[in-house]
Amino acid sequence: MKKLICLLILSLVFLTGCGKKPEKNALEQILDRDVLVVGVKTDSKPFGFISNTSGDYEGFDVDVARYIAKDLLGSERKIKFVSIDSSNRIEAITSGQVDMAIATMSITPQRQYLIDFSIPYYIAGQTAMVREDSDIYSFGDLKRKTIIISLGSTAEKNIRRILPTTKMIGYKSHHEAFQALQEGKGDALSDDDVILAGYMIDNQGYRLIKTRISREPYAIGIKQYEDKTLKITLDDIITRMKKDGTIKELKEKWHLK
Ligand code: GLU
Repeated sequence: MKKLICLLILSLVFLTGCGKKPEKNALEQILDRDVLVVGVKTDSKPFGFISNTSGDYEGFDVDVARYIAKDLLGSERKIKFVSIDSSNRIEAITSGQVDMAIATMSITPQRQYLIDFSIPYYIAGQTAMVREDSDIYSFGDLKRKTIIISLGSTAEKNIRRILPTTKMIGYKSHHEAFQALQEGKGDALSDDDVILAGYMIDNQGYRLIKTRISREPYAIGIKQYEDKTLKITLDDIITRMKKDGTIKELKEKWHLK
């Protein structure tokens, strides 16, 4: 009798398990929702910023997001942007607050423990910005100076590698970091060349150090799902954007090399 009851329970568990529909993968969930939720920067011109005129999200990363929404959902308007910064973007991804982050985010081995990345869509490099009248021309000149960085960015680690004893101060956003340089709280601001050049569009009196100390491959960050359909789809879309000239057009539009 006991055996029979056990068998019955087992077959019930088996049957209900079989009857359950498999959970939808991340891509199917986006398609069902019919809106793409994308984390972008608002402090990283020309990649992610708020337009002074339209008050809307703009930039290279924002255009990449719009292309993806059009591709997946048929309209670039089916998108909800969430403002994220370097210090909170990994959490925004892992908590599910956003479907993906397109936010000047470099692929690094440390980040790959926590999230998945698409293939890269842009390659930047880290350098530093100083005031025009500064006597700093190379990273070597920064040994006994103070360097400002954005927390959660790759800048801190790269600086530690080449200037292990140099004083560094970190800020939560690129805006705050730039403000600190303006206020003279440090001698240089180190970040990706394209982000620093973005600050120089609106602010006179600064120049960049000519050397790049790293290679920063920008890619789309997503949660680590067991089912890799979303990652594979994003890789396909980026490959197409490279082949159909979209990436080239976006570089021209945003004056990037
Ligand atoms: N691309 C670098 C990074 O992912 C620096 C710029 C940023 O913080 O977004 O950390």
